[in-house]
Amino acid sequence: MSYYQRNKKNHQTNRKRMSSKQIDINQFVKKATISTKAIYQNIHSFTDFILDPRLNQNINQLGLIKPTPIQDQTIPAGLNKQDIIGIANTGTGKTAAFLIPVINRLINEKDAYAIIMAPTRELAEQIQQQYRQLAKNTKLVDALLIGGIGIMPQIRQLKYKPEIIIGTPGRIKDHINRQSLNLDQFNIVVLDEVDRMLEMGFVEDIKAIIKLTKPQRQNFCFSATLNPSIKSIITTITNDPLYITINSSKTSENVNQDIVKYSSNLDKINKLHDLLIQKTATKVLIFDDTKRNVEKLAIDLASRGFLTNSIHGNKSQYQRQQVLQQFKDNKINVLVATDVAARGLDVHDISHVINYSLPQTFDDYIHRIGRTGRADKTGSALTFVNQ
Ligand code: AMP
Repeated sequence: MSYYQRNKKNHQTNRKRMSSKQIDINQFVKKATISTKAIYQNIHSFTDFILDPRLNQNINQLGLIKPTPIQDQTIPAGLNKQDIIGIANTGTGKTAAFLIPVINRLINEKDAYAIIMAPTRELAEQIQQQYRQLAKNTKLVDALLIGGIGIMPQIRQLKYKPEIIIGTPGRIKDHINRQSLNLDQFNIVVLDEVDRMLEMGFVEDIKAIIKLTKPQRQNFCFSATLNPSIKSIITTITNDPLYITINSSKTSENVNQDIVKYSSNLDKINKLHDLLIQKTATKVLIFDDTKRNVEKLAIDLASRGFLTNSIHGNKSQYQRQQVLQQFKDNKINVLVATDVAARGLDVHDISHVINYSLPQTFDDYIHRIGRTGRADKTGSALTFVNQ
């Protein structure tokens, strides 16, 4: 079995915890490749889809010219109310792939209501941002139900009977328990990053939430990976689904991957410093393992003069949003994060992902390095390994 096949197999079926003793550092070393695989031949252009004119106009305004492969296959089936299981990473355009048919249904059907669940607050917010761009001028009402911020404004928003709810399972469940949310009429369910939601222990919440929606409904499930346990859950939720698989290694193929060996903590931070002062390190996302270490590293780098901030679970949602915006607006160019806080982040032009601590699993590694090398650009991923 080739090195690449072995990695792919690990990625798909295994979630072995990595420890520095047993780790095979070869898996973090790989040159970016210009793919010689057959280029995907689009079946549709956006104008082939029969969409509400406002939705077409918003797609145009967003500058989306050609559907990505996941959109090319998901949108027509989604418009036909078919259930869909999409195996695709972030960066493939999967968000618009489900949002476009969902919005079109909400516009055309008076009694349609949609609920979208995502593993993290940041991802839910990003979905809402894209939703608002695509649903501009449609007068559809949305609600964002995420933790870390006050529940009262969300309760007030729910009184407007939003046609679409985007949120994380924990906060959605809170609203159900408080009886501020009734899902009786919801006939469209979207689960984004199902693999992550299951890893984060949301499985029972998700099942309980879906049980409260209409039995006759359309389901969209997206996951970067599909192992037997994920498959068994999504097949119980969906009904005769169409499987759409987009080569999930695509993002990492654009990424130059290498290791950085260090001998002591001082050597480690000095090597990081040397990397950050390189001209090519224009926008750097650094992963560290605990909230405390993330905070400590960010302070250390800031004291060395780098424009740095951090995101982790001890920061309020408001603080996390602010930091993310600073990073997007290039007010800082070094962001230190935990895996959970950085999950699903869609920030353009990240030049480097640095694994200052080892990822726990190969899946985490793939998710981390997928933050760079986006939209056909080449990125770099560097993993620190103790000599
Ligand atoms: P996602 O996989 O949904 O996280 O999307 C990744 C990025 O691709 C987002 O920044 C989108 O704005 C962008 N995108 C989505 N659809 C298209 C498209 N058809 N053409 C070009 N970019 C797109």
